[in-house]
Amino acid sequence: MKRRDFLKSLLTVAALSPLSNVYAKEGADGNKISEIAEGIQITRRQYKNTSQMLPLLGFGLMRLPRISPDKPEIDYTIGKQMVDRAMKAGLNYFDTAYFYHNGLSEKFVGDVISANYPRESFYLASKMPPTAKTEEDLPRIFNEQLSKCKTEYFDFYLMHNMNDESWANAKNVHMYEFLLKMKQEGKIRRLGFSFHSTPQLLQEIVDAHPNGYDFAQIQLNYFDWEMYKSKEQYEILTKAGIPVVVMEPLRGGNLASLNPEASKILKDAKPDSTNAEWAFRFVGSLPNVLVILSGMTLPEHLENNISTFAPFSPLSDKERTVLDQALIAYRKSMAIPCTACQYCLPCPFGVQIPNLFANYNQYKISGNKWALSLTYKQMGKANASSCVACGLCKTKCPQHLDIPELLKEVAKAAS
Ligand code: SF4
Ligand code: SF4
Repeated sequence: MKRRDFLKSLLTVAALSPLSNVYAKEGADGNKISEIAEGIQITRRQYKNTSQMLPLLGFGLMRLPRISPDKPEIDYTIGKQMVDRAMKAGLNYFDTAYFYHNGLSEKFVGDVISANYPRESFYLASKMPPTAKTEEDLPRIFNEQLSKCKTEYFDFYLMHNMNDESWANAKNVHMYEFLLKMKQEGKIRRLGFSFHSTPQLLQEIVDAHPNGYDFAQIQLNYFDWEMYKSKEQYEILTKAGIPVVVMEPLRGGNLASLNPEASKILKDAKPDSTNAEWAFRFVGSLPNVLVILSGMTLPEHLENNISTFAPFSPLSDKERTVLDQALIAYRKSMAIPCTACQYCLPCPFGVQIPNLFANYNQYKISGNKWALSLTYKQMGKANASSCVACGLCKTKCPQHLDIPELLKEVAKAAS
């Protein structure tokens, strides 16, 4: 195990040699133990007191480039370019899930990552979906995931999206026990869960299996820190000795495009920094954060993120005060705190909920009603007028948004 982790930590990049200068590194025993890419590398964090060093930035595979914006099919050409670039920079943690890209994200892992890189050169995380409703579903889904990802094991594996309902289901089907068995069989290296609910439920899940989780994945960013109790969640996990993997560090991209007033505060303090960089630096400044996931869609997202994390620099106290001021300015402008996580989809009537909320928020920031009305009309049947207020989406929203009511507001503003 130690040797495997060490090799991953140093990045086995022989497969990248056409793209990078590589050189051999000698181990204490004089053997060649790895090859390391020269040049800019992502800052790494140690997993507890082991030799495992993980990249502080992880590649979320839920928003990969698509062939067409309204279809889940992934653009393999651009996707592969991004994977190659990420690996070259030492960004070798990939986070997928059973239903990302309608199941095509795990296939992308198999076709593009496992097929082109030695398995020991990257970390792979996937998740058991809450749609596993019977004990028989668990091995069926798990084996399907292994097969799609073309791997024999997951480095990190999670019970996906724990909330009141999914936790009750997980207990009912003995999900944890099944996954623990997979861990004992070597098919899972580190076992955890992802979480979207209250600090009270988080404490309950942690207490259910003391010392039983290797990590947990929570939504954490400077906007949610106080407002949606990320701080409490972070503290519960830290106290329990559970390292944190962060999702939504940019709150679905919203923290990358703040309103002009908030952006100006950040720009005045640090002219060369982007809004996204400030948001990442807030999260990475927390010592119990192990990996920060970013769902990157375009090569430029990846390049910008690499420049933030290679190397990473934590926020100073003075910078933290600046960020607090920007947050106050931003909160004044944001209408709907949607993170674009897409858990509310699919709507049986085709309503594209996160897109509508994003357009509405943009309108509230820019005041451009013409643009809102135009995009609304262009969405056709996917717009808010197709909503029949069945309430299905509302039960799935981790942000507890009253989606049908908010859609009425969007429709009114766009008319
Ligand atoms: S409440 Fe509206 S948007 Fe939500 S699932 Fe039902 S029809 Fe779709
Ligand atoms: S409405 Fe809720 S579930 Fe849907 S994308 Fe936004 S935050 Fe996620």
